[in-house]
Amino acid sequence: MNIVIIGSGFAGLMAALGASRLRHEKGVSPDELAITVVSPAPETVIRPRLYERNPEQMVAPLTELFAATDINYHQGSVETIDSVASAITVVAADGTSATLAYDRLVLAAGSDGFTPPIPGLAEFGFAATQMAEAVALDRHLHALAQKPASTARNTVVVGGAGFTGLEVATELPGRLREIMGEDADIRVIIVDRSEHVAPAMGTDPRPFIEERLRTLGVETRLNVGIGALDENGVTLGNGERIETATVIWSAGMRASPLTAQLPAERDNLGRVIVERDLRVPGRSQIFATGDTAKARTDTAGNYAAMSCQHARRLGAFAGHNAAADLLGEPTLPYDQPVYVTCLDLGPDNAIFTRGWDSKVEITGAQAKAVKKEINEVWIYPPNAERTAAYEHVLAARTIDF
Ligand SMILES: Cc1cc2nc3c(=O)[nH]c(=O)nc-3n(C[C@H](O)[C@H](O)[C@H](O)COP(=O)(O)OP(=O)(O)OC[C@H]3O[C@@H](n4cnc5c(N)ncnc54)[C@H](O)[C@@H]3O)c2cc1C
Repeated sequence: MNIVIIGSGFAGLMAALGASRLRHEKGVSPDELAITVVSPAPETVIRPRLYERNPEQMVAPLTELFAATDINYHQGSVETIDSVASAITVVAADGTSATLAYDRLVLAAGSDGFTPPIPGLAEFGFAATQMAEAVALDRHLHALAQKPASTARNTVVVGGAGFTGLEVATELPGRLREIMGEDADIRVIIVDRSEHVAPAMGTDPRPFIEERLRTLGVETRLNVGIGALDENGVTLGNGERIETATVIWSAGMRASPLTAQLPAERDNLGRVIVERDLRVPGRSQIFATGDTAKARTDTAGNYAAMSCQHARRLGAFAGHNAAADLLGEPTLPYDQPVYVTCLDLGPDNAIFTRGWDSKVEITGAQAKAVKKEINEVWIYPPNAERTAAYEHVLAARTIDF
């Protein structure tokens, strides 16, 4: 018997550990139940940190952890899922392809930034939702320092005032001054069609976030979209022209295009609408998890967000359930009644909220300490040691904040 897991991000890693843990608990050997992770590299990219300095360092290796927990690894990118033949095709970096058959498949291929058809965006825009984009942005920012000072050089426009847009925008003043010199006349401007910043968070955190933006000198243009980009700047929907050499697009995510290969209903973000145990409806051998799944978190009508918080727990459930299904154990309904957010707001500042209505719980330096703990410790993989890894995945499935 075998389980194949597509993706080694937060959900894929937790799925592999969750399946391995149950296999171990039931005294089943890796020969009887093989677990194989497929991804382009044996690592987890720490995507929530890609807006920070040195983004190329935001990665955690997995080879030793996989060895310690008897998880096989197959390097490559999945191109097709044949849910009738129960097999996937994987293409390696050298172009060779292999077919892997599965008894249970866990789709944990994550998401990408969404690029709308705004003229010039694909050509002149930057992003920080994937490692390659974040590294390209970092190189661009450092290259700007070699150019003569100008309004365009010193101005960065961030498209999107949601979580990722705010985090990158509030990090930028410090990062740009480090690169261009403390005296550089830096401007950071957030543009969003919404009426308010952080529109998904509601009213409670808003005054604090707005005050932070004012303190950092981050400007906003709200109720207006970016109309077009060219190499010298952007034109907003209301005709305003902003000279800039750097536009960072941070508005919207879409689930992996692999979800479109499953004969299942998807939501407007491309996520597969899964059953309570994270199975793909009508495809009993396939589970979808992390950013590829739209899953109900509770009985109050809330659904998992595209977040590490949800991806880690969704992964732990999906892996456990894939193994349980093959081992004749009951599968477990996913639930995650607690929802918190911790939004980074620049040096020594963040805001921690609780609940789907985002009630503010902690702000300032204390919230920043929580953010650092989350980003630098909690979301990283466990040590490459079996007991620690199994405790880690069990906690991800059972412990609430
Ligand atoms: C800039 C930024 C900031 C964020 N900040 C936060 C935050 O503060 N808090 C929070 O909770 N969340 C945050 N998120 C969201 C969070 O990073 C995602 O929700 C999370 O990464 C989802 O985990 P995942 O495992 O589903 O997908 P991913 O982490 O994207 O992992 C997907 C995996 O699948 C692999 N893969 C993709 N396609 C294929 C293929 N065809 N074949 C094989 N493998 C494939 C990838 O290489 C990767 O290993 C942030 C995201 C970004 C981009």
